[in-house]
Amino acid sequence: MPIPQIKLNDGNILPAIGFGTYQLTGDEGVSSVLTAIEVGYRLIDTALNYENEENVGQAIRLSGVLRDELVVTSKLPGRFHGKGETRRGFLESLKNLSLDYLDLYLIHWPLPRIDKYLETWVELLELQREGLIRSVGVSNFTQAHLLRVIDETGVVPAVNQIELHPHFPQSEMLAFHKKHGIQTESWTPLARQRSVLQDPVVVSVANAHNVTPAQAVLRWHVQLGSIPIPKSAQEARQRENLDVFEFELSTDEVSAISALESGRLWGGDPETNEEF
Ligand code: NDP
Repeated sequence: MPIPQIKLNDGNILPAIGFGTYQLTGDEGVSSVLTAIEVGYRLIDTALNYENEENVGQAIRLSGVLRDELVVTSKLPGRFHGKGETRRGFLESLKNLSLDYLDLYLIHWPLPRIDKYLETWVELLELQREGLIRSVGVSNFTQAHLLRVIDETGVVPAVNQIELHPHFPQSEMLAFHKKHGIQTESWTPLARQRSVLQDPVVVSVANAHNVTPAQAVLRWHVQLGSIPIPKSAQEARQRENLDVFEFELSTDEVSAISALESGRLWGGDPETNEEF
């Protein structure tokens, strides 16, 4: 079944599921990303700080898939926040990936303490105007951060990539994004496989549809209207994770999974977490 397409507020299109690449590095990283493209992923998520952009770029070239069929995402780390710096950070990613534009480029963390995310956002808009970025977005932005960039620049980020999984279902952020036309992407959609996939509620929903717990969870993301970007180094799981468009959870099943809320996986609070 083809992957459904989602239209962003800037008119560009994202596939309804993507592939996460955190920790996929070196030759093994290349072969995992290559397999992911071969089994059908078209949205690939990396970041300068994953130190694997060169590997991702190599996999893209080896795949032979046409550039305009891929949606390549990367993210700007904290050390490149600010006027002038943003362009340098972006160009470093572009060079690592050996590409001449990115489909989606995100500010990785807002870092409110250093308070440069607004000027960083303005620089992203400039890079977009130059045709180097198709869609501009953010990651780990709170409602206040989003409102500030929208109020100051009049441009609504196309995407906010946030921590979202059954233990942290982010219902308020989902509603806020919907109201403002911002597409949600879910990072750690499987909660890094911790107890979520063994949770009796998830297992029972999965059994009811004759799918795996990971498929039930990924389908839950899709029905919440968020784009999950699961990572797997294993081809069988990559295929499994992609195969979530031929069954549908009931409203009660979606609510039952959302009720598993227990909090963030680790201290990834955007107000305080700092990554440079
Ligand atoms: P995920 O929630 O995607 O979980 C990945 C783990 O789940 C791996 O251990 C993987 O193991 C396992 N797994 C994958 N598929 C299955 C399956 N079908 N059944 C059982 N286990 C499975 O965690 P990530 O942290 O990787 O998050 C996804 C992506 O989100 C990242 O790769 C990155 O691109 C992005 N991200 C963004 C952040 C941000 O700040 N914007 C922060 C963190 C992540 P195996 O590989 O062995 O299959």
